[in-house]
Amino acid sequence: MSEPTRGLGKDLCGRVHAVTGAECYLPDTHYPRPHQALSGDSWHDGLCSECAGSGLVSDILCPSCNGTAFEPLTPY
Ligand SMILES: [Zn+2]
Ligand SMILES: [Zn+2]
Repeated sequence: MSEPTRGLGKDLCGRVHAVTGAECYLPDTHYPRPHQALSGDSWHDGLCSECAGSGLVSDILCPSCNGTAFEPLTPY
């Protein structure tokens, strides 16, 4: 296999901040550095403790993570 490797636009993190809705634009290899959005926001997050990553609690959108399944670990 000799396919040329194209770095642009591949495997972006794309994680959405549960509170602000900002989207991480870093490559998905940025871990363990924090997520960062184009707006300058940066944050760490982890699996939501309310819904355990399902995004739903009792069949409604999880209020803790807004359905993103992750919640910020650092106070915003
Ligand atoms: Zn990220
Ligand atoms: Zn949740």
